[in-house]
Amino acid sequence: MRLSDRAKAIKPSPTLAMDAKAKALKAAGEDIVNFGVGEPDFDTPENIKEAAIRAIRDGFTKYTPVGGIDELKAAVVDKFRNDNHLNYEKDEIIVSCGAKHSLYNIAEALFGPGDEVIIPSPYWVTYPDQVILNDATPVIAGTDEKNSFRLEHDALKEKISGRTKALILNTPSNPTGLAYDRKSLEAIAEMAVRHDFYIISDEIYEKLTYDGFRHISIASLGEEVKKRTIVVNGLSKSHAMTGWRIGFTAGPKDIIKAMTNIQSQSTSNPASISQKAAVEALRGPQDFIPGMVSEFDRRRKYMIGRLNSIKGVSCVTPVGAFYAFPDVSSCYGKKFNGTTIDTSLDLSAYLLEQAKTALVPGMAFGDDRFIRLSYATSLENIKKGLDRLEEALSKLT
Ligand SMILES: *Cc1c(COP(=O)(O)O)cnc(C)c1O
Repeated sequence: MRLSDRAKAIKPSPTLAMDAKAKALKAAGEDIVNFGVGEPDFDTPENIKEAAIRAIRDGFTKYTPVGGIDELKAAVVDKFRNDNHLNYEKDEIIVSCGAKHSLYNIAEALFGPGDEVIIPSPYWVTYPDQVILNDATPVIAGTDEKNSFRLEHDALKEKISGRTKALILNTPSNPTGLAYDRKSLEAIAEMAVRHDFYIISDEIYEKLTYDGFRHISIASLGEEVKKRTIVVNGLSKSHAMTGWRIGFTAGPKDIIKAMTNIQSQSTSNPASISQKAAVEALRGPQDFIPGMVSEFDRRRKYMIGRLNSIKGVSCVTPVGAFYAFPDVSSCYGKKFNGTTIDTSLDLSAYLLEQAKTALVPGMAFGDDRFIRLSYATSLENIKKGLDRLEEALSKLT
């Protein structure tokens, strides 16, 4: 086999790999608690499903315009105006096959050899690989859990060079649950304008926030920063629609046009049926969301409380998304049956083996001191999994 250098440079998504492993063990009859999941455990609302069924019955099953049907673009324009105080025209919007695809199109449209892309760590697993796939260099900017993993001015400044093309910002964050407040966003926006780099703002978890936090889009902080921001959002998390593959991007017209050209030569339009469902998701009743959020909140409080009560574990309280990201590094160097646990990978393997509990090692997100547990699973499962985790950790000596 003679694969390209590009193909050889790329690793499969470790979160999807962990999820697949847990599902395979479960299918083989093992009683696995799966904290590896990266999707809501809620069903897509009925009105959205009905819209899709109607689309099929009406024969809306052919190619559509590459960047999405007009009706959907108009709904996306309204979403940005109503939710984010952002005014875009339809030619500043493109709909893609999930937000991951939106991000990939952006990477293809903007990055090339010599470009540096700043990514705060811990980061979503996909960002560095998408940068590498487009021959640019990821530049990782460290953060501190004492500041809830917020990217601080000095840490950002230190990474800016003449080659800096963009910063990838994810708020609320997967995996840390950090959500940026206005003041922090203003500081970052000011740097982007001064040093003239793009901000790619992944806002996929915007609807999933707690403790009264209100998401702010960095693009809404002024015309100068808006010109340099490409906003990514979608329906996977907000409307429990991971399988439908709908993501959207808003940004400067020339970038959207380049992304549309790339999409026209790669995937063409997102599924016609999913687009009709997406119109209903954006235009229809939104009362499904607060119900889902309050259930996530209940689980969040339980999980964070439990984790912090376990000896050797400390966990920052997340303000958004549906993940806990505890520091477990005090377990490293300890042993079970003669085998030493030295890394987040060792610990995850141990917990899967001994506690039948699947989670994702922090290494995948750029910080080995941590592990990621999703609370997009029932409270009953969470209790069971944390009981097992606590017991397994207590066996390490
Ligand atoms: C889930 C997720 C996405 C993308 O989801 P899609 O299903 O591709 O729309 C993007 N960014 C982050 C941080 C995510 O967790």
